Amino acid sequence: AETAPVLEARGLFAGYRKVPCVRDVSLDVRPGEIVVVLGPNGAGKTTTLLTMAGALPGLGGEVLWRDSPMKAALHHRVRAGLGVIPEERSVISRLSVHDNLRIGRGPIEHALELFPELRPLLRRRAGLLSGGEQRMLLTARALAADPAVLLADELSLGLAPKIVTRLMQALRGAADRGTGVLLVEQHARQALAVADRAYILQRGSLVWSGSADEARQNLRRIERAYLGQD
Ligand code: ATP
Repeated sequence: AETAPVLEARGLFAGYRKVPCVRDVSLDVRPGEIVVVLGPNGAGKTTTLLTMAGALPGLGGEVLWRDSPMKAALHHRVRAGLGVIPEERSVISRLSVHDNLRIGRGPIEHALELFPELRPLLRRRAGLLSGGEQRMLLTARALAADPAVLLADELSLGLAPKIVTRLMQALRGAADRGTGVLLVEQHARQALAVADRAYILQRGSLVWSGSADEARQNLRRIERAYLGQD
């Protein structure tokens, strides 16, 4: 049976200083699925994600949370169960891993069950962690709160494939527990390996959408046609 979307963009226009760089984008995320938004640099992926998170005002169309317009205030959205891992990384460098986890809404124990790798690092200052460890910390913190929706922007950027696989597995686990995951990625392959559906943005417009299976089967062609890769 089809479940209803938990978060949806309908005919969304978005951008900066009233100039839309995202035009007429409709996409949705349902509980328990991973949806990946692909597209080349500057296609409007981050802008779409930020607008769906309510962090950037939309310029037209609407963002719906369980079928109602999303409340503007951040604490409403967070209480409703929206988790975000933004592109500009948000560990607090001078605080320990433990204190960074404490800032989250989820139990620290839950975060450590999801990422046992963090346990021996609890006393370490977050600023001293590797890029991959910082990304695990952010992901653990976001997922420990059992969000209804997690929006993650370029989680894999600059990381070794092994760590990317680990992060993608954690997202898959969260989705299997019911979280709807919207993942923005420039590198398609590893995201598609765990995703259920995919959308492709090009110059601010949706140019392709389909199942992740379909995207995986046609990856070479899709990369050539839409992602500017040979
Ligand atoms: P990237 O992978 O480079 O982040 P993206 O697909 O996420 O690409 P966006 O960051 O959404 O693309 O950018 C879409 C367009 O909006 C680009 O032309 C970009 O230059 C522009 N843009 C992004 N951030 C801002 C900003 N803060 N102010 C003005 N223009 C911006």
